[in-house]
Amino acid sequence: MINSSLRELSAALAARKISAVELATLFLDRIDKLNPALNAFITIDREQTLAQARAAEARVPKGTQSAGAGNTPLAGIPLAHKDIFCTRGWRTSCGSRMLENFVSPYDAHVVEKLAAAGMVTLGKLNMDEFAMGSSNETSFFGPVKNPWDTARVPGGSSGGSAAAIAARLAPAATGTDTGGSIRQPAALCGLTGLKPTYGVVSRYGMIAFASSLDQAGPMAKSAEDCALLLNAMAGFDSRDSTSIERPAEDYARDLEKPLTGLRIGLPREFFGAGMDDDVRAAVEAALAEYRKLGAITVEVSLPNSGLSVPAYYVIAPAEASSNLSRFDGVRYGYRAPEYGDLNDMYSKSRALGFGAEVKRRILIGTYVLSHGYYDAYYLKAQKIRRLIAADFQKAFESCDVIMGPTSPSVAFAFGAKSADPVQMYLSDIYTISTNLAGLPGMSLPCGFGAHGMPVGLQIIGNWFGEARMLQAAHQYQKASDWHVRMPEELK
Ligand code: GLN
Repeated sequence: MINSSLRELSAALAARKISAVELATLFLDRIDKLNPALNAFITIDREQTLAQARAAEARVPKGTQSAGAGNTPLAGIPLAHKDIFCTRGWRTSCGSRMLENFVSPYDAHVVEKLAAAGMVTLGKLNMDEFAMGSSNETSFFGPVKNPWDTARVPGGSSGGSAAAIAARLAPAATGTDTGGSIRQPAALCGLTGLKPTYGVVSRYGMIAFASSLDQAGPMAKSAEDCALLLNAMAGFDSRDSTSIERPAEDYARDLEKPLTGLRIGLPREFFGAGMDDDVRAAVEAALAEYRKLGAITVEVSLPNSGLSVPAYYVIAPAEASSNLSRFDGVRYGYRAPEYGDLNDMYSKSRALGFGAEVKRRILIGTYVLSHGYYDAYYLKAQKIRRLIAADFQKAFESCDVIMGPTSPSVAFAFGAKSADPVQMYLSDIYTISTNLAGLPGMSLPCGFGAHGMPVGLQIIGNWFGEARMLQAAHQYQKASDWHVRMPEELK
């Protein structure tokens, strides 16, 4: 059961082979047993989970109703939320001391939608503080361990989501991706994760990091699972001014179509120096499989992609410095126990409430937005952002999807990059340009590299190209079994 797809779980529930309460209990028991060593979950509440499961029970379809194509009912299937999503009645900490005791009075749009689909919340997942990080070492609640090797990082910032699914503590999870935080941990933990086109999923109730880049998406074992989850997560929401109003789509509609003639663009810049040999070997093998499946590969170029990390580390901190100004110790969140006047309360609360990486971003962001530097840094970065987006549009003239590595290396050891922020920032070199351009991107497992650690293949689509990306991923997953592998000792 722990290795089942969402369709299989749905069918088992519909056939009354298992009840929603039994299914939730199965995962809660695994969490009790395995989470202490992994630190993936930071809030669990058995009572609330079981109450949700009992309520979902009534909504599980009967018989074979769920076996059809398209929008398979998710009723009764458990999942867990990254702790960046506001959840009514549950703590929402965003991995920070600042929100250590914050209980949201409302649900994020995504949480609402998945609950409306009948999904059951297993708990809240650890993450890098305010989603800033690539290794899950910046959480106030301590690092998350990679289930494939607990001496290694799970990636970040959705590392709790990735570790929970990889250890089969949850069949699926939500994540958010500002510069790679769904795709990179999915790659490092051997999972499938998708960051949708900017605006497809509402950001309402998702604690803001860099608003023009943040996007929520599904993380699960397979592309098919991600398609079903995205069906439930996507949709217009008037409470997010960047939410896109367009007709609902069935993201699973093309899954079974063959790949004959699919043009895969391989950006020259993604296959140069910087990628480890083991990652390259796995990605090349996956591309060979794609050619066998009928796809053709063409070389494309993204000439400005080398500027994506520097542009991102101006734009994202700039937006973060503004978004995080709301945490002042006044309305909610952490307040320093002792202080003098009002200004002293602000500064002590922020000094004690935020961790080092968050402070670094606030300092950089405030600097690049300040008078005299705005034109030199922020405006320049915005211009580069436009060039990066234009590169992709040019590339999509000769291909349908773009493929390459998700991460330049497999999961690294704890501490390996934490002393050097630039090294850490380079973990997202292949994922960041997608966010800058607002494009959808996903990662799927394509083999194992050094130390037996998983390798991820990245697929980038044009705006609203999710269904085609999911089709490409699903067809590969029908021909491979990387996505169903799990760490032997956790079986
Ligand atoms: N690693 C990147 C950062 O630290 C991306 C994080 C994210 O996507 N949330 O900003």
